[in-house]
Amino acid sequence: MVRPTNELVFAPLGGVGEIGMNLAIYGFGDQRSRQWIIVDVGVAFAGDDLPGIDLILPDIRYLVEERKNIFGIVLTHAHEDHFGAMLDLWPRLKLPVYATPFTAALLQAKQESEPGASPIPVNVIPLGGRFTLGPFEIELVSMAHSIPESNGLIIRTPLGSVLHTGDWKIDPTPIIGPPTDEAKLRALGDAGCLALIGDSTNAIRDGRSPSETDVAKTLADLIRSAPARVGVTTFASNVARMRAVAEAAAACGREVVLVGRSMERIAQVARETGYLDGINEFRSVDIYGHLPPDKVVALCTGSQGEPRAALARIAADAHPDVAFGRGDRVIFSSRAIPGNEKLIMRVINGLVTQGVEVITDRTHLVHVSGHPRRAELEEMLGWVRPQIVVPVHGEALHMAEHGDLARRAGVGKVVPCRDGDLVRLAPGDPEIVDEVPAGRLYKDGSLLVDAAQRTVADRRRLGFAGMISVALALTERGDLAADPDVHLFGIPETAADGRPMADIAYDAVTETFESLPRPRRRDPEAVAEAIRRAVRAKIAALWNKKPTCHVQVLEV
Ligand SMILES: [Zn+2]
Ligand SMILES: [Zn+2]
Repeated sequence: MVRPTNELVFAPLGGVGEIGMNLAIYGFGDQRSRQWIIVDVGVAFAGDDLPGIDLILPDIRYLVEERKNIFGIVLTHAHEDHFGAMLDLWPRLKLPVYATPFTAALLQAKQESEPGASPIPVNVIPLGGRFTLGPFEIELVSMAHSIPESNGLIIRTPLGSVLHTGDWKIDPTPIIGPPTDEAKLRALGDAGCLALIGDSTNAIRDGRSPSETDVAKTLADLIRSAPARVGVTTFASNVARMRAVAEAAAACGREVVLVGRSMERIAQVARETGYLDGINEFRSVDIYGHLPPDKVVALCTGSQGEPRAALARIAADAHPDVAFGRGDRVIFSSRAIPGNEKLIMRVINGLVTQGVEVITDRTHLVHVSGHPRRAELEEMLGWVRPQIVVPVHGEALHMAEHGDLARRAGVGKVVPCRDGDLVRLAPGDPEIVDEVPAGRLYKDGSLLVDAAQRTVADRRRLGFAGMISVALALTERGDLAADPDVHLFGIPETAADGRPMADIAYDAVTETFESLPRPRRRDPEAVAEAIRRAVRAKIAALWNKKPTCHVQVLEV
């Protein structure tokens, strides 16, 4: 059965069912020859459950295979969950990249700060601009968000128009950049919108997000009324917040010191792109100690409790230039990304122990989300009136709530999907018609490893129960040529009765060896396996945990 019919399809390769790692593809053509565009190439941050792993990236095997049919990569904005995998993954694709000026400049600054990263040429598109990639006519829609230049994409095709919302909220007074472009979105609704592929992050929160301007007022009050030093931590990429802090500081005669490399990098890009026009130069961190306490605001990285970032080091009293103490005030102008709560609490507790007053969004309006709450989602659906809604950018609960909200708002077709699902948007009823390879890569040191590899599972096991290494040298006749070598790593030194675990392991090795009949001793694999089992069993009986045991048998 041949169906040479053109179809419009969508598939998420990341970001659906998880926070972060956004990567979507749109395809046009018949089943055998589709032409593609990629929207966003983001990362997710790894938690404690992935020891030694910093970042999680989408697996782009499928895109590497389809490379010659892909017209380009469009970046909606410069948040890590949308563009953070570019430096690692772009060299495997080498496709044309399209982004607005701030995103392009930040990508370049990031590349320059990472040794060995190859330059990525970017086609810079003005805000609200239009461009064509094969069968896709793309128009940018400015959206308010928590970083300058967040863009929705109107993707026009011969089979209909799609709104890929990107990250957005409705904020009539966003401090930086234009508010969400209501007129353009209404016009899209008037012309007819086939499908909305949209941000579900805050779909479980009622009402509307407050404005950045409301936050700026609170920050100004808190900075003005502070008796001594003030520290503020926020996402470095939230330039509106950076601006709000700078204006509040200037209003009460304080200088702003930037603490942390990403803060400096983003401030520089924001200057170059005009988003800090009219703001006094920031001061470098080495002047901090020379300024009177009531004349300084330290704008610090580390709002997520990242152990290597500025604020965690300050909280541990281990920062070379910056310290806080009794009477100082530190404001968390941020919210915990799920999974980071413990790290953040460690930083807060460190500061409180030093006598610092810590202010968070628990008691003051010092942070607003950059994502739409329910009333905003409803308003967007009212403007655009899509026939189809595909909830993305969220965990299962967020997407399910977004879908229910859309149905209640009168959207006829809601298509829940998962990473790797290929959704046909047109023609006909939308449905999942296929699956494309999707998965995860881990950034492990400087290498990218497949999440399916054993590396991290091994590491977790070693971290939980340590390891015993045994080496035996056997003669040809099957006797021990020397005393066995036994080493324990990460295992308690003594058992409950006080006997050294190393002796217990050693005895298990020799007893097991001696109990083997001579013919079996000539089979090194059989010897190794018998000893491995015996040592693990012996230790487990005393410890109730089974370490990894590695036995090496050499014939001499
Ligand atoms: Zn974002
Ligand atoms: Zn996002």
